[in-house]
Amino acid sequence: MLRNDTLDQWDREAFFHPSTHLAQHAQGEAPNRVIRTASGCHIEDRDGNRFLDAFAGLYCVNVGYGRMEIAEAIAEQAKELAYYHAYVGHGTEASITLAKMILDRAPDGMSKVYFGLGGSDANETNVKLIWYYNNILGRPEKKKIISRWRGYHGSGLMTGSLTGLELFHKKFDLPLAQVIHTEAPYYLRRPDREMSEAAFVDHLVAELEALIEREGADTIAAFIGEPLMGTGGIVPPPEGYWPAIQKVLDRHDILLVADEVVTGFGRLGTMFGSDHYGIRPDLITIAKGLTSAYAPLSGSIVGDKMWKVLEQGTDENGPIGHGWTYSAHPIGAAAGIANLRLIDDLNLVENAGRVGRMFNEALQDAVGGHAHVAEVRGEGMIAAVEFQKDVAAGTFFDPGDKIGAQVAGKLLEHGVIGRAMPQGDILGFAPPFSLTESEAAEVADKTAKAVAAVL
Ligand code: PLP
Repeated sequence: MLRNDTLDQWDREAFFHPSTHLAQHAQGEAPNRVIRTASGCHIEDRDGNRFLDAFAGLYCVNVGYGRMEIAEAIAEQAKELAYYHAYVGHGTEASITLAKMILDRAPDGMSKVYFGLGGSDANETNVKLIWYYNNILGRPEKKKIISRWRGYHGSGLMTGSLTGLELFHKKFDLPLAQVIHTEAPYYLRRPDREMSEAAFVDHLVAELEALIEREGADTIAAFIGEPLMGTGGIVPPPEGYWPAIQKVLDRHDILLVADEVVTGFGRLGTMFGSDHYGIRPDLITIAKGLTSAYAPLSGSIVGDKMWKVLEQGTDENGPIGHGWTYSAHPIGAAAGIANLRLIDDLNLVENAGRVGRMFNEALQDAVGGHAHVAEVRGEGMIAAVEFQKDVAAGTFFDPGDKIGAQVAGKLLEHGVIGRAMPQGDILGFAPPFSLTESEAAEVADKTAKAVAAVL
């Protein structure tokens, strides 16, 4: 095993970390956190410190760590057939089986699964399929994609553009011109504090209508949104939001992409977030929970309406020119099959709903009444605590105060991992679905201690 000082040196010298302050890291000012092992909801670092991971990695290790069923399925697949491609009709038993298992669980009206590696490339695929679709239908000008401010859809060129967070645009010359943004369904930050939730939904609908009017419906191809916003602050939509938005999109013949990278496969206590909010998507993005991150795998689930046109397109133009070497990688597919079986066998979707509700209530009891807590919000096994400088007046802290990061830092000292969300003073939680009632209570209790230490 490498010595700590060697690891630290090699890390600084060789490893380009994503989403990291590069200068601070290279100069050794940021902590090196090297994780060595994990089991259940706990991870352990190289010095033997144990943490309760109440964010499941990056809300992806949904079944918890150390699941031997998945590890063994991966090993068996690697021994039998580590790789074969999926081009020109090739497949493996694992990839075909997983496609069928996904469709069996997907909302009604879904037709096929295209496999990728991560959420970003799956959303890149979605945009290409949408453009192909409109070209085949003979309306090449209908190409723009509407996304929401604070939405998160990845960090590629197109997907980083769809992401509505400034950090992901800054100095990268994004967003690209084909992407337009509309307001986030973020009730706490509504434009007028007197607005009811219903009036806020009307306002969001009016904003969307005005945007479509301004740009021209014949230039807009699709709308993309997470059923419940994740990285932008863990924001459940206001009551009635999705049916109201869907109505506008239907009226203007605009496709709807449900980005279920976080919500897919159970996080909200239902198999998909679309089921939870009554969304009828044309495309669904899946990743993270598909394999619980035991291997990289993502997918675009294509609805019937688009599929018919894609088929027609290949009749007219030959094979579709879109593929990755690792599309439908058998090792990822084997992990996905074992993961979905485990979710069924252990009733983990039901557990995410039941324990998640308790967890949300425990957080509310623990910190909901604190003078600087504006809101405890969540759904199923995802939750956020948002802080304000003056809750009665509705004023926010200065971003430089980094309140969310300070509270997350204190919480870590108590052995619990939450996430300071990248924008705003928000502490986020998205534990594994296997969280127990006592672990839920422990996270809530330690959150109260961390909040009290900072505010
Ligand atoms: N879409 C959503 C909703 C996400 O939360 C993420 C990642 O957090 C992505 C897409 C991008 O996925 P990846 O990081 O696997 O590319």
